[in-house]
Amino acid sequence: MSKSTNKALDLVIVGAGFAGLCALHHARAIGLSARLIEAGSGVGGTWYWNRYPGARCDIESLQYSYQFSDELQQEWEWSERYAAQAEILSYLEHVADRFDLREQIQLDTRVVSAHFQEDQERWLIRTDNNDTLNARFCIMATGCLSSTNRPRFEGEADFEGNVFHTGEWPHEPVDFTGKRVGVIGTGSSAIQSIPIIAEQAEQVYVFQRTPNYSIPAHNRPLDPAEQKQVKAEYSALRERASQGFGGSDFLAINALGSEASAAEREAEFEHRWALGGLYILGTYADLMIDKEVNEQAAEFARKRIRAVVEDPETAEKLCPDQVIGCKRITVDTGYFETYNRPNVTLVDVSTSPIEEFTATGLRTGGEDFIVDTIVLATGFDAMTGSLFKIDIRGRGGERLKDQWAAGPKTYLGLMSNGFPNLFFVSGPGSPSVLSNMVVTIEQHVDWITDCLKHLQTEQIDTIEPKSDAVDRWVAEVNAIAAETLFMGCNSWYLGANVPGKPRIFMPYAGGFPAYRETCDEIAANGYTGFSLTNKNTTESEL
Ligand code: NAP
Repeated sequence: MSKSTNKALDLVIVGAGFAGLCALHHARAIGLSARLIEAGSGVGGTWYWNRYPGARCDIESLQYSYQFSDELQQEWEWSERYAAQAEILSYLEHVADRFDLREQIQLDTRVVSAHFQEDQERWLIRTDNNDTLNARFCIMATGCLSSTNRPRFEGEADFEGNVFHTGEWPHEPVDFTGKRVGVIGTGSSAIQSIPIIAEQAEQVYVFQRTPNYSIPAHNRPLDPAEQKQVKAEYSALRERASQGFGGSDFLAINALGSEASAAEREAEFEHRWALGGLYILGTYADLMIDKEVNEQAAEFARKRIRAVVEDPETAEKLCPDQVIGCKRITVDTGYFETYNRPNVTLVDVSTSPIEEFTATGLRTGGEDFIVDTIVLATGFDAMTGSLFKIDIRGRGGERLKDQWAAGPKTYLGLMSNGFPNLFFVSGPGSPSVLSNMVVTIEQHVDWITDCLKHLQTEQIDTIEPKSDAVDRWVAEVNAIAAETLFMGCNSWYLGANVPGKPRIFMPYAGGFPAYRETCDEIAANGYTGFSLTNKNTTESEL
């Protein structure tokens, strides 16, 4: 599409993933002139960048999809229980075409700054193509896991082989045949990719700092009859999912594990394990609150590791000792079985960190590992990383990065004080990464769209949360997290994976149903906690 120098728009959206595409579609529906700016050469966001072998969703396809258009959800045929990256990317490309969104999307362009112009009450947005866009509203649909975490290792420049980060994977297939590969990390990206890499490579060394719990996905092709049946009752499934803690239908039960006997709990864990994937998270309402219940689930998962991994020493190294669910649980296909292969070696770097990269590999614990390729499965600067890459400045030139220096400060995860008319989708302080992202993205975009419609109808120029409303929300997000077991490990939820990042639990852990109800109430009561202003009249203090 054409460049956009100084064009006055109603809305600029940053990012063409699930959030941005949906926001663009909804903005057009209410008659806003909108432009979407995307750094990649295609739409898809996470699913555009994360092309590593084995990348697939850990939420079932029929739930990890938009519900704003019944025609779309009826037409699209998913091929597997858990869709692979390429299929989700095709789905998002289809959405861009089907809803005719491409004309308003500018690819290969990175937003570098967004400055609020107080005199005009508009956002001035600059890109790395030297375009400037001028918009009343701005939606940051930049993703929670889009800014890669690349730890620095001594001697990186000396390494003569290839280095790939899972979150910035090459677009052409990487052939590992006959190669010696070192994988750093054992989070979801590693756990999905290691079994596939191991099938091709001559030798795989997995450098593990912290072992992770992983549950077999039991992925399978979707039976067309089953898909047809789900589609016939789609609204019922979506309704059940919206009542679930994370916006997914995981057969959630409200029972408390603390009120069940150990034998009952064991049977329930057994049942959930057999269903595969994240179902275990829905087992008990107090799984992430009650230590004893959690420890039984954790031990249940460890027993499964010991039953699969033949070498007892390797099995013990693979057994996590932290709270289950404290770091994001991963869902795998054949991960632990991979350690029974003769060409896979687990290297524990928990006590002796990777010392350096060498010309031929890397060194840890005084030992040299010779590899041709290093895979950095080292994760992301989650939730704030992509926002901080943009120089966002609000009233008085205040930088978002400075305001959030001690931790993100939002109201509902949607907006920050001092940054009028700037919205975040899945921002810190919202359920976001603790939920089915597509469901909570749509809830945010619906809320924002209704809000923009309200501003149009009421001829309001700006909306911005009041600072005391932000303070109260941040306190509530922290208080809820403090009651859970999420605080007890070095997770990226807490920012603990990035050196220097404040240790604050970023997502809202009170569950999607409670969160949605709060958002709806606030809007229904005339946007409680927000200041809405019209420059021709006085500020309406609601
Ligand atoms: P991650 O969960 O943050 O895992 C990063 C791994 O790298 C951890 O094992 C970490 O160890 C290790 N690491 C980082 N720096 C290291 C260093 N200097 N030396 C040694 N090890 C180091 O990242 P991810 O696997 O990319 O997953 C991030 C999130 O993306 C997931 O939790 C999930 O929400 C999402 N995701 C989802 C799927 C899916 O199934 N749909 C797939 C991939 C990703 P420590 O644990 O010790 O820090």
